[in-house]
Amino acid sequence: MNVLLVSTYESGFQSLGTSVAAAHLLEADVRVNALDLSVTPTPDIDDLCRHDLVGFHLPMFHSVPAAVRVAGRLRQQEKAPKIFFYGLYADLFREKLLGRHGDYVLGTDWEDQIVPLVKRSPDPSVVQLQKRGFARQNRYRTPARQVLPHLGNYAKLVEDGAHMLAGCVEATRGCAHHCTHCPIPPVYGGKVTIIPEEVVLADIDNLVLMGARHVSFVDPDFLNVPRHGLSIMKAVNDKYPFLTYDFVAKVSHFRRHEQYVRELAKLGLKFVLTAMEFNDNEVLDILKKKHDIDDLDWSIGLFHELGVHLKPTFVMVNPWAEVGDIMDLLEFVETRGLIDAVDPIQYKIRLLLFNNSPLMDSVGLYASLGEESDYYTEWRHRNPAVEELHREICRWVDEAVERHLSTEDIFYGVKRRVAERLPPGHRSSIGPAPVKLPPAECPRFNVPNYCCTEPTEGLEELKGLL
Ligand code: SF4
Repeated sequence: MNVLLVSTYESGFQSLGTSVAAAHLLEADVRVNALDLSVTPTPDIDDLCRHDLVGFHLPMFHSVPAAVRVAGRLRQQEKAPKIFFYGLYADLFREKLLGRHGDYVLGTDWEDQIVPLVKRSPDPSVVQLQKRGFARQNRYRTPARQVLPHLGNYAKLVEDGAHMLAGCVEATRGCAHHCTHCPIPPVYGGKVTIIPEEVVLADIDNLVLMGARHVSFVDPDFLNVPRHGLSIMKAVNDKYPFLTYDFVAKVSHFRRHEQYVRELAKLGLKFVLTAMEFNDNEVLDILKKKHDIDDLDWSIGLFHELGVHLKPTFVMVNPWAEVGDIMDLLEFVETRGLIDAVDPIQYKIRLLLFNNSPLMDSVGLYASLGEESDYYTEWRHRNPAVEELHREICRWVDEAVERHLSTEDIFYGVKRRVAERLPPGHRSSIGPAPVKLPPAECPRFNVPNYCCTEPTEGLEELKGLL
């Protein structure tokens, strides 16, 4: 059996899922090749067809288009290999992928399923894969990162002009929460899988050997199991005091796990990414975020005190926000001293309505639902001015990033465009900042992170393929 593992878009990082899958297959004496289309041009299709089985890792929405494009080309060949998909979006889009693009889709416990699949393929009757992968996961292996191009080909952390090699790791998978706009709850149903500490530490050892000076935890929420994260980072900091890290966590966890956050901050924590989403309590309720504006201010104050950057992400364009609300969000960013902490791509993000989203009915009440593709449903704001504004902001951000303008220039370019469309008599609802952060340059990766956003201008390729 000859297997090819393919990764596409993973926020600019070396693919964790591909290297984990490779570790399982290598241990089972399977011949494995890996191909990362984000850093390598697509090879000749005949070369790909020399494999018996090709597996695509789909951890992100924007991993899907290139994967289905290559899978489609493979399936047209006379001697087409069998195709499987795995990762969060494989499970979310299971029926569509199985119907049109592949032969197998693995569940959330794909590490238990991948070797049986490969050993028994190509007879699909033998492999009884579960519709949903809720079985307890038993098998963990240290990622075989050597199958992929060197870290130097991937996202680097930029700080004070220095570019540091970085790698992504995970301590947990899944999430205990049920935010309505998020694709994780429909797949994991509140389940959190804990990756054993020794596996995470061995992976970090390998990354450091490869030259990494920063690790990024890609857990959906690092504070779902804070004791686990703290134990890992204490061991890492003991061994590699020079290594910095970042993680993602929800706003409400900062208050709930304040003592853990204080401990984690002492262990090389560079920044924390958090989904603030919008500075409006009604919108936060609809999204079931379990935090409010007071929590945002409280969290900003906590991280300021700890000397750690807090980097917010937003769903800036959503069906419930008018032009004035978007201006309020920008004023919130400005008054809280967050301009440099917001990656400019955040100003382009609009709600992604993946198919079967629990938000479908609610969005339908406020916006017109457009064309339904196999994977997501387009929605349009009831106020055309918001749509026009969004298009204009997208054009501005793309142009400004291309011209290497500063985050401050980009922010004020966005704000000017919003101001031009404000209804007369608009009054800001933003109160004074409890803590005004001093201006500080915020470290960031040199590759933009398209997390969950509806494909729009600038992402035409995604629109066409999806
Ligand atoms: S948005 Fe974050 S906290 Fe909410 S369900 Fe998704 S991963 Fe969990």
